[in-house]
Amino acid sequence: MMIVGTTTGINMRAEVQVSDVLHNCIAGNFQPARSGATLDNRSSVTGGVLCTIPRSDETDVADAVDAARAARLGEWSTWSVSQRADLLEAVADVMESRLEEIAAVESRDTGKPFRLAATVDVPRAISNFRFFASAVRQHHDGFHEMDGALNYTLRRPVGTVGLITPWNLPLYLLSWKTAPALAMGNTIVAKPSEITPMTATVLAEILHEVGLPPGVFNLVHGLGHEAGQAIVEHPVVEAISFTGGTNTGAIVGRTASERFKKVSLELGGKNASVVFDDCDLDKTVAGTLRAAFANQGQVCLCGSRLLVQKGIYEEFVARFIEAADQMKVGDPADPDTSLGALISHEHREKVEGYIALAQEEGGTIASGGTRPSLGDPLDAGAFLRPTVITGLSTSCRTSTEEIFGPVVTVHPFEDEEEAVRIANSVQYGLAASVWTHDLSRAHRVAAAIDVGMVWVNTWLLRDLRVPFGGVKASGVGREGGHHSLSFFSEPKNVCIQL
Ligand code: NAD
Repeated sequence: MMIVGTTTGINMRAEVQVSDVLHNCIAGNFQPARSGATLDNRSSVTGGVLCTIPRSDETDVADAVDAARAARLGEWSTWSVSQRADLLEAVADVMESRLEEIAAVESRDTGKPFRLAATVDVPRAISNFRFFASAVRQHHDGFHEMDGALNYTLRRPVGTVGLITPWNLPLYLLSWKTAPALAMGNTIVAKPSEITPMTATVLAEILHEVGLPPGVFNLVHGLGHEAGQAIVEHPVVEAISFTGGTNTGAIVGRTASERFKKVSLELGGKNASVVFDDCDLDKTVAGTLRAAFANQGQVCLCGSRLLVQKGIYEEFVARFIEAADQMKVGDPADPDTSLGALISHEHREKVEGYIALAQEEGGTIASGGTRPSLGDPLDAGAFLRPTVITGLSTSCRTSTEEIFGPVVTVHPFEDEEEAVRIANSVQYGLAASVWTHDLSRAHRVAAAIDVGMVWVNTWLLRDLRVPFGGVKASGVGREGGHHSLSFFSEPKNVCIQL
């Protein structure tokens, strides 16, 4: 893929020229699917075709796995930890030097604001490579001395791993898996979402440009139930790291477990922002607004249920709605844009279906709920105004199912106990945020909510060392820091009688 653009400062309208035919990357070769079949990748902003991708099937996956298996036994197996860490740093350097170009590609492929891609998606992808370069250099294994014997534990790569990623944060999530997998010496068969294939192709190019041996990172484009399923089923793929929807995660988990593969599942969420009446109102309105609508509400961690204590409910909701109404929806290239287009027209219809359902369920659309009028040509895009819904029960479908769009439901609560009960009343358990000045209460509520991650008086503040992941229907396992390094390696204990 050819991309061009300026690299000085943040240029909101970085030029992007993307090849209109993307290829798989197998053994370092960029090639079409064996069958020659392709899929269209459409823009959610213009509706036009951005590029085609190979519609890969199990034969392409088999080629990719063969390449990965061969690479596992070749030069790559002799690379030291420092060599691997240096390579990750080199990837980060190249991405940094092309930050705007890559952000422009990501924005174009997803419809998200360019500013968001340039300040969050790409910088975080760069951080992932730098972080795991540093983490693997410092990684150390166990040593256990006993009477008359000693044990030491070696860490070995798992082998060939399958990385399957969704469309909402394409480069960021692929790099979050690729960096630790390479750090620990694995070979990879990756499949990005078929509707956001572009930055995965850029990443494959960069990896080879900085000297990754051919076959270590293989990229297979295509549909989930075809290419994705073939990766999970392939007997030589020893571990699957999957991020995506809960229903897909169930299929992937079942398929992988039946074959005794290691599996990590990062799935959906319906996260609560819990606002107590002693919070800092300005900071909390701004923080919960960002939590609700970042990336058009298409972040697994989004606070899509806003629970507000009764003492400040009226005032808080009025201010939240006022702030939501001021968010600019529109051209992703415009620096003032807060919300770009949703990922696709089909997805917007799904989100709009929930807005209609909310009204049937007795809710009031207090703000948004409609398509903005942006004029030609943006009216062809999948835009939707940030939507605030009040008056729903906490148990109806709109309040409990993952919508994954710019829609937040707001619910009053009496006290701490009720807040925790509502927060825990959904099948998901990914994340929550708690907004209060009472430190003791923050500790109690954080401990009581059944999720993998809780933020207090903030949202999405990330330290890459900490465990990332959810409980209940939000997933199995954790990523981040040593959790990722452990997942992508196998411990081997050696016991020596002295
Ligand atoms: P999805 O489950 O539809 O697809 C995810 C990936 O799985 C895609 O690459 C898809 O092609 C592939 N896939 C589909 N069927 C498959 C199969 N049978 N076997 C193997 N692979 C298959 O999810 P999506 O719509 O792309 O992404 C949105 C979902 O991802 C939301 O539910 C969101 O909450 C979740 N998500 C979770 C996290 C997290 O860290 N927990 C992060 C981002 C997104």
